[in-house]
Amino acid sequence: MVPAKLELKTRLREAGLRATSSRLAVLECMTDAQGPLTHADVCDRLKDAGFDRATVYRNLADLTDAGLLRRSDLGDHLWRFELKGDAEHEEHAEGEVHPHFVCTECGAVACLPDGAVTLAAVKGAPRSLKSGKVDIQVRGACNDCG
Ligand SMILES: [Zn+2]
Ligand SMILES: [Zn+2]
Repeated sequence: MVPAKLELKTRLREAGLRATSSRLAVLECMTDAQGPLTHADVCDRLKDAGFDRATVYRNLADLTDAGLLRRSDLGDHLWRFELKGDAEHEEHAEGEVHPHFVCTECGAVACLPDGAVTLAAVKGAPRSLKSGKVDIQVRGACNDCG
């Protein structure tokens, strides 16, 4: 379920951001997303709203700085953005990493469900593994391409 606009406004204000119409639209778009989106993906989804690419980019950056979005590079040098943990995305709890699946054929990126990959902070592994401050990605063919 998509949170009401009012709830999104509250979330922006609580993060210390003004609830401008473009910012609201970007946050709403990210809330609807089923997986991480690039700047181009967001522009594409908002193209009917008439926001220019620079505005969308600035809003993505602001939302990331304010801690509402997480930004990751999944190895193709494209930043992808997704919502940080909230009630609507319980599987993406705050600060918790979750693995992404990247299709090597079509480039589609999806969030993997909990338990699909488990990390073990075994002896000899970097400390960041234990703290969960790592990006995990699995590459292969998605269901459409496999
Ligand atoms: Zn694919
Ligand atoms: Zn994700």
